[in-house]
Amino acid sequence: MDSKYQTYDVIVLGGGPGGYPAAIRAAQNGKNVALVEAGELGGTCLNRGCIPSKTLIANGERLKQVREAGEFGIDTGAISFDFAKMAQRKDRIVAGIRKSLEGLILANKIRIFRGYGKFLSKNEIAVGAPDEAILSAPKIVIATGSEPREMAAFPFDGEKVHNSTTLLQLEKLPKSIVIIGGGIIGCEFASLYIALGVKVSVVEMMATILPMEGESVSAALTKVFVKKGIAIHTNGAVKTIDKNGEGVTVRLADGQAIEASIALVAVGRTLNTNNIGLEKAGVAVGANGIIPVSDTMETNVPGIYAVGDIASKWWLAHVASHQGLVAGDNVSGKTAHIDYNAVPSVIYTDPEIATVGMSLEAAISANYPATVAAFPFQALGKSQAILHTEGFAQIVIDRHTGQILGAQVVGYQASTLIAEMAIAIANELTVESIAETIHAHPTVAEAWLEAALLVTGSPLHLPPKIKKS
Ligand SMILES: Cc1cc2nc3c(=O)[nH]c(=O)nc-3n(C[C@H](O)[C@H](O)[C@H](O)COP(=O)(O)OP(=O)(O)OC[C@H]3O[C@@H](n4cnc5c(N)ncnc54)[C@H](O)[C@@H]3O)c2cc1C
Repeated sequence: MDSKYQTYDVIVLGGGPGGYPAAIRAAQNGKNVALVEAGELGGTCLNRGCIPSKTLIANGERLKQVREAGEFGIDTGAISFDFAKMAQRKDRIVAGIRKSLEGLILANKIRIFRGYGKFLSKNEIAVGAPDEAILSAPKIVIATGSEPREMAAFPFDGEKVHNSTTLLQLEKLPKSIVIIGGGIIGCEFASLYIALGVKVSVVEMMATILPMEGESVSAALTKVFVKKGIAIHTNGAVKTIDKNGEGVTVRLADGQAIEASIALVAVGRTLNTNNIGLEKAGVAVGANGIIPVSDTMETNVPGIYAVGDIASKWWLAHVASHQGLVAGDNVSGKTAHIDYNAVPSVIYTDPEIATVGMSLEAAISANYPATVAAFPFQALGKSQAILHTEGFAQIVIDRHTGQILGAQVVGYQASTLIAEMAIAIANELTVESIAETIHAHPTVAEAWLEAALLVTGSPLHLPPKIKKS
């Protein structure tokens, strides 16, 4: 047989946070697995997304801590920073994790093929250069992910008009930036750049930044951003981005013109499903390139599964990985299902924002008799001790049953705090179970205990509400 024609139990197309967990799980289940990756292992998350952005964001956090050191009686003298070194640190961290990931995949005896993969039929994938092979398997997992969406009117040039990928590659800070899109990615970069002393403007088409997160969350971040000096243009439709010697001029439909050194266009993602031969396999593709799947992650074609951004309304690495594990079990003859009841989502702004389950607005529009109570970090001893008093933790409950429907937290370590509420919602806990759980003191997690006491009408560290007679 042609050595370029190889047979496996399972082929996984794409080695990002959706694909590699699927491959590892199938290998753990005793399957002979091939993983095809056209670019770098770890996908968007490791190379162009979560990890490089959070590594840079950590620089802004550290700088803030150093600047606030005087409050703690620590004299630092003059403070300066070198952005080029920050960028190098980010690259080192990404490269290190990528190396470990490759080792992990190989340790699981998964064969890695480098090259662009395309379906030839429902059981075959052709892998392009450099590895050039034709692979066959009865089960295939598609995990090809997404790319930054480009607007025809203002294409990316990687110099003055950036997407998130090219912005993460900068080695020199711009003097100013205009960010088009006030969603998660846009807000994270706005928060990072203002922390590093860059002048920041955000243009958002909708009436608020973070329009999907519920009124209380977007209002809280707007307040913080305005206080930090970020110029926010909501209801702003960008007509053109004109490049000039100095930088860019972003012109809005209402006649405003915003000048900046560079622009970031962060207006969504394009799914990588239109050039991988899905038609040859008979895999159906829906609106915007999304692949419809069942709760076992199987597509319309039995034996072909899809995971990650291409198969999800959640464009999050941890959702992709969870789907990957479900698919990895199902391609191995086990039965696993995905449940999206409790998906935590974090926005790494300063302060961090984390949510799980329903916002108050979503719960009311789903006809729940919902109510909410928010506890401010200002009222916690630990928050005062560590000088992180900004923000609140709030719990949305069903008034009749006490079931926790959702939770939102804006504040220090929100990304870690949200895990408690994710477990509560995933296990259908009531707010009483939080109120009755002893929370360690002093911790910022006490905010959940206090919010639970508040929402049930028995606050401990807030005065009772005065009832109007
Ligand atoms: C700036 C930024 C920050 C982010 N921050 C976070 C965060 O903090 N937390 C979070 O949860 N999510 C975050 N995300 C989202 C997260 O990165 C994605 O949801 C996640 O990477 C999706 O995983 P995936 O496996 O579906 O796709 P991807 O990570 O895009 O991986 C797909 C892989 O498939 C490969 N591929 C594509 N086509 C082919 C082909 N035909 N043949 C072979 N290989 C192919 C690609 O090279 C890529 O390696 C962020 C995204 C961005 C852009």
